[in-house]
Amino acid sequence: MLSPLLGLEIADLEALLADERKYRARQLYEALYRQRISSLGAATALPEELRQRLGAAYCVGLPEQAACFESVDGTRRYLLRLADLRTVETVWMPEEDRDTACISTQVGCAVDCRFCLTARLGLERNLTAGEIVGQVLHVGPSERLNIVMMGQGEPLLNLTQVLKATRLLTDPTGLAISPRRVTLSTSGIIPGIEGLAREPVRPKLAISLNASTEEQRCELMPITRKYHLADLIETCRRYPLRSWERLTFEYVLLKGVNDSDADARRVVRLLAHLKCKVNLIALNPGPGIPFETPDPERVLAFQTILKKSFPCFLRTPRGLDVYAACGQLKKMGEPLPPILPTVS
Ligand code: SAH
Ligand code: SF4
Repeated sequence: MLSPLLGLEIADLEALLADERKYRARQLYEALYRQRISSLGAATALPEELRQRLGAAYCVGLPEQAACFESVDGTRRYLLRLADLRTVETVWMPEEDRDTACISTQVGCAVDCRFCLTARLGLERNLTAGEIVGQVLHVGPSERLNIVMMGQGEPLLNLTQVLKATRLLTDPTGLAISPRRVTLSTSGIIPGIEGLAREPVRPKLAISLNASTEEQRCELMPITRKYHLADLIETCRRYPLRSWERLTFEYVLLKGVNDSDADARRVVRLLAHLKCKVNLIALNPGPGIPFETPDPERVLAFQTILKKSFPCFLRTPRGLDVYAACGQLKKMGEPLPPILPTVS
């Protein structure tokens, strides 16, 4: 089987081409990440003979498109096939002033949040840096592209590959996406957050809070038994934000479970003194998910309380009709009966 070149950084390519002239590594790097070649034959800056020799052992390694489902709102859910024939999902969302690519970092997820369809898959495997970057190359990078690591998987349980992918995505001599346009979302893996804090090149950090008490969070996100809510908040307090950065907290609202005024007030107390904003997401329903979406009035009342203390936004579900919305990624190859948004 041919080894993929995507995922290699400039130093890796220099080692690979150690017997060639020094600039060949740079030429190959630019062909992969700037020209976005799909086969080695297209790397025409390299001599034919070198391309042939490389081609005997290596391939570019872009994912293949197995399917693409387009929503009425323009959102696209891509099902991408990897070299081992497993599939993973990437969502592309056009907006007025920017586009957003929601990319996966693992196939499935081991974290088991009760409201999330991806959890039902369990963890199949980690993605490589090349497979993470490959998703961005597939949807097409651009000046107006934002990247959110919010697809399948828990990025901080695949930290080494996620960091490598981040360096490749943001390298000014390569894909050159601004680090301000890359966000990683975590269920609260404390050692991972601490690892991220030590990195010079890292995405912005978003934390899926989803509950207002320790006990409630343990029920909804059993990972809380390992990484307690109080410790998570303390880790956030110590997190070294860059001058332009603030933490994002995501909060999935579940009808009658975590959406009361008292919950909202507890969230305000939990996050007091943090430089942060909150994104509220009304539950996106799915088959077998044992929760309901709150009424729009409840969502607005919750937002009103939070807004007094920090910026608080409602995330409109995108691509709900093609199962592209948050928590709905489950490798479905067939379009399912459409579910209509209840909050807009
Ligand atoms: N594993 C990471 C990133 C992927 S999940 C994490 O949990 O943060 C991305 C976001 O979708 C998280 O904030 C999660 O809480 C939210 N989410 C999961 N299931 C959802 C659902 N059914 N409806 C709405 N949001 C959901
Ligand atoms: Fe995994 Fe995130 Fe889904 Fe939880 S919400 S199961 S961490 S993908």
